Amino acid sequence: MDRPVETNPFFDKQPWALDIADVLGVLEVDSKHGLSSKQVRQRQQKFGPNQLRKHKKRGIVEILINQLKSIIIVLLATAALFAFWLGEYVDGWAIVAVIVINTVIGFFTELRAVRSMEALFKLGKVSTRVRRAGKIIEIDAEELVPGDVVIIEGGDIITADLRIIKQSKLQSDESALTGESLPVSKQGDAVAEDTVLAGRDNMLYKGTAVTRGSGEAVVVSTGLDTELGAISSLVEEADQEQTPLEERLDKLGYRLITITLIIALFVVGSGIWAGKELFLMVETGIALAVAAIPEGLPIVATIALAKGIRLMARKNALVNRLSSVETLGATGIICTDKTGTLTENKMTVTGFYLSGDRDISLSEHKMSDNSDLRLALEVGVLCNNASLYHQEKGGTGDPLEIALLEAAKKAGLVIDELPSKYPEIREEAFDADVKMMATWNKKKDGEYRVSVKGAPGAVLDVCSSVMVDGEVQPLQKKDREQWEELNLELGREGLRMLAFAVKTVDTIEGNPYEELTLIGLVALSDPPRSDVKPAIFRCQQAGIRVVMITGDQKATAESIAESVGIDLNNREAIHGRDLPDIAGLEMDSPETNEIYHTSVFSRVSPSQKLDLIELFQKKGQIVAMTGDGVNDAPALKKADIGIAMGQRGTQVAQEASDMVLLDDAFSTIVSAIEQGRVIFNNIRRFIYYLMSCNVSEVMVVAMATIIGTALPILPLQILFLNLVTDVFPALALGVGEGEAGIMQKSPRSPEQPILGRSEWIGIAGYAFIITLSVLGSLFIGMEYLLLSADKAVTLSFLTLAFAQLWHVFNMRSSDSGFWNNTITTNNYIWAALLLCTGLLFVAVYVPVISDVLKVTPPTVTGWGVVFIMSVIPLLVGQLWKGYGPDLEVLQK
Ligand code: ATP
Repeated sequence: MDRPVETNPFFDKQPWALDIADVLGVLEVDSKHGLSSKQVRQRQQKFGPNQLRKHKKRGIVEILINQLKSIIIVLLATAALFAFWLGEYVDGWAIVAVIVINTVIGFFTELRAVRSMEALFKLGKVSTRVRRAGKIIEIDAEELVPGDVVIIEGGDIITADLRIIKQSKLQSDESALTGESLPVSKQGDAVAEDTVLAGRDNMLYKGTAVTRGSGEAVVVSTGLDTELGAISSLVEEADQEQTPLEERLDKLGYRLITITLIIALFVVGSGIWAGKELFLMVETGIALAVAAIPEGLPIVATIALAKGIRLMARKNALVNRLSSVETLGATGIICTDKTGTLTENKMTVTGFYLSGDRDISLSEHKMSDNSDLRLALEVGVLCNNASLYHQEKGGTGDPLEIALLEAAKKAGLVIDELPSKYPEIREEAFDADVKMMATWNKKKDGEYRVSVKGAPGAVLDVCSSVMVDGEVQPLQKKDREQWEELNLELGREGLRMLAFAVKTVDTIEGNPYEELTLIGLVALSDPPRSDVKPAIFRCQQAGIRVVMITGDQKATAESIAESVGIDLNNREAIHGRDLPDIAGLEMDSPETNEIYHTSVFSRVSPSQKLDLIELFQKKGQIVAMTGDGVNDAPALKKADIGIAMGQRGTQVAQEASDMVLLDDAFSTIVSAIEQGRVIFNNIRRFIYYLMSCNVSEVMVVAMATIIGTALPILPLQILFLNLVTDVFPALALGVGEGEAGIMQKSPRSPEQPILGRSEWIGIAGYAFIITLSVLGSLFIGMEYLLLSADKAVTLSFLTLAFAQLWHVFNMRSSDSGFWNNTITTNNYIWAALLLCTGLLFVAVYVPVISDVLKVTPPTVTGWGVVFIMSVIPLLVGQLWKGYGPDLEVLQK
């Protein structure tokens, strides 16, 4: 893994072996000012973008050639050659025109799909905070150059190789490079040049993650010059993997091709056997095959999914994979954390609870009145990593710790003096498993004060004494129970609780969490976000369960859950301690079912989160899960939809997730799910429509062949219909807004096929009715209007064309109104209908085209027949929706 020393392009001596002043000298940068814009420009030219992968951009020619590779083109080309060979030049050229039109349409749809995919890559880029020209700005990590001064915080992903300038308690997870799974502590001093990578503790490497602490560092190498670059070579980003939906569409396509070929062969064979013209029958066979092959399905699905991603981004949800859109629509359970997702994450200390003087409201008591309060406030300030802004309100760091600083300031403690009075020598970071944090601060007498803060349950467990008016007294069992009772009481009010404890030691070695003296409890309020309750209500209506999985305690969790309207299912919250080893449970045991039906889990450790997700998944649910910390990453990956917070979340969590919420709002998840449902429905509707149109064409020709009448629709007419009447309404269906009631239905089952049995029955039924109408027109034309075969065929052709157009209104779901539904409110549908009607008039009245299509303008009576016969399938469809047995699964 360690590279030979001489490969770094910048330095005579490796940057970790130099003092930081020398490193900055070589890179010609002042760390307080950063690079100037001129330097940045020059270096960007010299070193190129800071990237390991190049996004493959698909060129226009490639997309064009791709169109010609399709089986449809092969079929059409065969038909054209056949026509020329037989001297049927008009038909031959017409088919060539069809090939051109088909290619052009295919080209533009695919181009659009490809370009929107490329735009998506841009959404998912990682940013980095740098100091340039004296200002701290956020830039795209790809724009980093050697010499850039990077500002680092816990949870960041390192995007280039960096030499540390200064740091505070910085630790990083370098497992991606070294395989070492424990975080490594960092420092700023030079180390020997031959130190192996894992030991270079003044460096931070691209691809690793900062687990905690903060600092500044200078970029020493970027892109392929980084250690990570050395082990990966410049690869072109592979095309996005096919989404499950696209795969299923492909499979559907293949099945249809087989069925169609069989039918086409049958039609051709029986036609020839019945004495029809060879060329006419072969051409018909090919036209039918072309009609039934759903070539455009996967592409249109891609366009619809990509459009969904764009819409979601507009609503503050960044989704980074097409397949996530599809999965979102099937989400059955949202596992959410509490702080910041359901609550504001704006904390205020509401009170201190001490031994002598319980319940202290800060404004009334000054700490001069009370030595225990002073101690509590000091612990809150010393055992703290946040800092307050000087001028404005607020500060940087954990909102809980900011609240403690604000409380201390309000009580009159001069918080800026404390750190120099009691310098911090060691810190035991807050750990979500231990739920406590400790610092060792040096006192004047040379001893150390250990300050501990953490979850009351955890702290009480490791206290043996209690502070009462400045005196240390043993902590009796009875006292302990009283403290626990108080904690519970306050928790029930939805307050977030902390306990403070101290001890004095003479060495900084040893376990901080034993033999402590309890000072008291602190209650903090963190009100629920106002948008959460309505959003949870929407989830419940939509059959989506909301489950709270929190690190906080049971009473607080239950109280907040109740106030935001989470349905507790008549069950108490389960404490993490009481969770059995989930991995070892039988899936249908009572224990599993109990867990499955519980809605609040408190004091849950990161690994238990993972187990809970797995349990829900094994129960057949699609699970979405929110998280923000570094240790949430595994659970975010494991969930079907990992959701990270854009503002509060760490980059590590964002990287591990499928969706990032720019506004951190729970309600955004719900709108994304709604969008996912709409899109999936649109895609199914689009396929359903296209299938019923295509099957009707096949059926019309097959039936006519069986009955032995003239062909009600000629080969070129079939091709015309496929290019005109089906395509535009189908595309319009694919981009509809969705139904009003879509969030009032249960989520679809993940196994539900795109087209189920009922849809196939529906398709066959619609196709059958359309076929009857078309044959009816032909019959009326020949028998009652006594038209020539050509003229009668015009009637049946137009009947089919218009029947397909009106059929689009059959695509509404049965529970929506006839006049007001997702179809009638979709302006694209109306535009498509207008366009197609126009094109059909062109086909009838523009000489060259009508000649080629062998269409003769019908009389007024003829048009009357066309209109009446083409409306029949619409009427039957609507009557069926109103009164027939419910077949349509489409609406789910
Ligand atoms: P959620 O997981 O829903 O966001 P949470 O933030 O309460 O909830 P954790 O961050 O795991 O979950 O915190 C668990 C408990 O640890 C808190 O209830 C609090 O008592 C304690 N705690 C949280 N942050 C700190 C901290 N910085 N120092 C000491 N104790 C803390």
